[in-house]
Amino acid sequence: MSTYDSLSRIQSDIDSGSIDCVGLVNHYLSNIRKYQHLNALTEVYAEEALAEAKKLQSKIDAGTAGRLAGMIFTVKDVYCHEGHSLQCSSKILEGFESQFTATCVQRMLDEDAILIGRNNCDEFAMGSSNENSVFGPVINAVGENRVPGGSSGGSAVAVQAEMCLVSIGSDTGGSVRQPAAYCGIIGMKPNYGRVSRHGLSAYASSFDCVGLLARSIEDTALTLEIMAGPDEFDTTVSHKPVLPYSNNLNWEGTAKIAYFDNILTHQGLDSQVKSATNITYEKLRSLGHSLDHQAFEYLDYVLPTYYILTTAEASTNLSRYDGVRYGYRSESAHDLESMYKKTRSEGFGEEVKKRILLGTYVLSEGFYDAYFSKAQKVRRLIREETLKIFEQHDFIILPTAPTTAFELNSHNRDPLEMYLEDIFTVQASLAGLPAISLPNGVDKNGLPIGIQVIANTFEEEKLLSFSRYLIEHVLSN
Ligand code: GLN
Repeated sequence: MSTYDSLSRIQSDIDSGSIDCVGLVNHYLSNIRKYQHLNALTEVYAEEALAEAKKLQSKIDAGTAGRLAGMIFTVKDVYCHEGHSLQCSSKILEGFESQFTATCVQRMLDEDAILIGRNNCDEFAMGSSNENSVFGPVINAVGENRVPGGSSGGSAVAVQAEMCLVSIGSDTGGSVRQPAAYCGIIGMKPNYGRVSRHGLSAYASSFDCVGLLARSIEDTALTLEIMAGPDEFDTTVSHKPVLPYSNNLNWEGTAKIAYFDNILTHQGLDSQVKSATNITYEKLRSLGHSLDHQAFEYLDYVLPTYYILTTAEASTNLSRYDGVRYGYRSESAHDLESMYKKTRSEGFGEEVKKRILLGTYVLSEGFYDAYFSKAQKVRRLIREETLKIFEQHDFIILPTAPTTAFELNSHNRDPLEMYLEDIFTVQASLAGLPAISLPNGVDKNGLPIGIQVIANTFEEEKLLSFSRYLIEHVLSN
């Protein structure tokens, strides 16, 4: 299916004259048309992208093009892009247009990447299957009845089916890594605070990370390097130096790797995902890396902690959607209070409403200490316990998700079943650490399996170079 797996291939084809920028955009536009039924894009910027391509070609000819010249990308429908719609896949933002551009998007545009469309996603990035969207579900390109994962499902499918080269997703508890695993591509969440969140619609602010979906480590590294670093609009961004990740992708030597026994024996872990993970561990051992099993005692607590804290933060963040300031307003309201109530009842989908209620409950007087404060304490313990592992190890390696892509409508009845999909991704989110999902072969039905690598605080460079080593020498393709 794929013709272009990396920016360097595209750039050398442009240099040699075998394709020009307009031809390149048309190549992606034709895939967008071909895979329209997958519902990965809510809007296509065909005219704009073609106009940008013409401008870019002149820049290339004049030798003045930026570092992302030839990168055609999409963004999840949670990022602001001036003069363009932003809906977070929700009815409540119907008709809303951004007045400024998110820092991460702007930095890519400044380096001459071309934005070709906006991706469908779970409403306000809440979900693990991309079925909670006012635009309808996204469908995995591997099999028509399979979900792509979520919440950045549209972004993952756009990269998977080559409707773009790279997509910007967002990862609060796994929303870039899990869909990447389900779609057989790369998905990376940098350290919390590595990339500015300015222009990213807030879900749970102490977890939200700008994340990337791509087909190569080289593209992931280069794009991250360009997006990362201090920003006057987001004071939570770290001032630690952003290293030239894309120049330092050569991994040398052996790694000390930790894995968790209780994850391998977890009852929800699919047997084929388990055996693919075990094969990877064996291969790593045979290549001289050390593998050390650890008991991660907090496994049973990661999901409750994550869901208490994120719903609490979401209930606060989403209070701004009241029918006054943005998008949709109920027509049947007759006074101020009924306007708030009706707008929010009609504008939000079921999952978002459930989380707002849950979050309001855990923050309410009488329950605050029992739930919210307690969860904050447990979060700290999880972070400390995880950091302790990194005193002795370079990486933690574990499956990205317990299963491969499940069938559409199969997990909708029991929310716990859906929330269990995040069990292996939320640890890095609770601890704020960089993590990546890499493709690791397929199961008997041809469904992609993902493996996740977590690195120590702000060690994106190490994570990326080891990931490239894994893809080249260890993982099955
Ligand atoms: N599936 C998780 C949730 O629903 C993760 C979402 C995300 O990372 N945005 O909260």
